[in-house]
Amino acid sequence: MALCTEEEQSEDYLFKVVLIGDSAVGKSNLLARFARDEFYPNSKSTIGVEFQTQKMDINGKEVKAQIWDTAGQERFRAVTSAYYRGAVGALLVYDISRRQTFDDIGRWLNELHTHSDMNVVTILVGNKSDLKDLREVSTTEGKALAEAQGLFFIETSALDSSNVAAAFQTVVIEIYNILSRKVI
Ligand code: GDP
Ligand code: MG
Repeated sequence: MALCTEEEQSEDYLFKVVLIGDSAVGKSNLLARFARDEFYPNSKSTIGVEFQTQKMDINGKEVKAQIWDTAGQERFRAVTSAYYRGAVGALLVYDISRRQTFDDIGRWLNELHTHSDMNVVTILVGNKSDLKDLREVSTTEGKALAEAQGLFFIETSALDSSNVAAAFQTVVIEIYNILSRKVI
């Protein structure tokens, strides 16, 4: 067996991360902003790619996140079990300007836990934080739900880029830390 340099070994880190949450909360735009620094004001499900592999630098190591987008499946308020298969991270997204999307979080969590490992590293993401005048879900409520469910929490705006990279990085860094602890 050939010996690997540290750099070659780091190529082995490839994490599947899924985007879930109600239709039109901004999942595809969060991914477009993070991966390509793009935003689609009138996006349709057609922009949804199946997944996008994004290289990230964690503690000087190259880590690849394979980020899955729903390609419109969530219009039926559920996505297929194949979508969740092998996922180690999840961004569970709601729209701070639409309370219904926040009320549906429990259902998405049930679905996530039905189809994947209980230990999937999950962050609750309140997107569209730029829509200040239309806010229907307070930051305090978001934080409280995340705490009760043992999730990370962040508010983002795919429109003005606020916290978008941080949302993805929080999940990937935590996965990386868990896995590197296991190796040691
Ligand atoms: P998805 O169905 O969850 O993938 O949602 P999309 O990414 O397709 O976005 C749905 C709509 O919300 C589109 O019209 C987007 O332009 C808009 N949108 C997405 N993110 C934001 C955001 O952060 N702020 C605002 N104001 N609009 C957003
Ligand atoms: Mg979409």
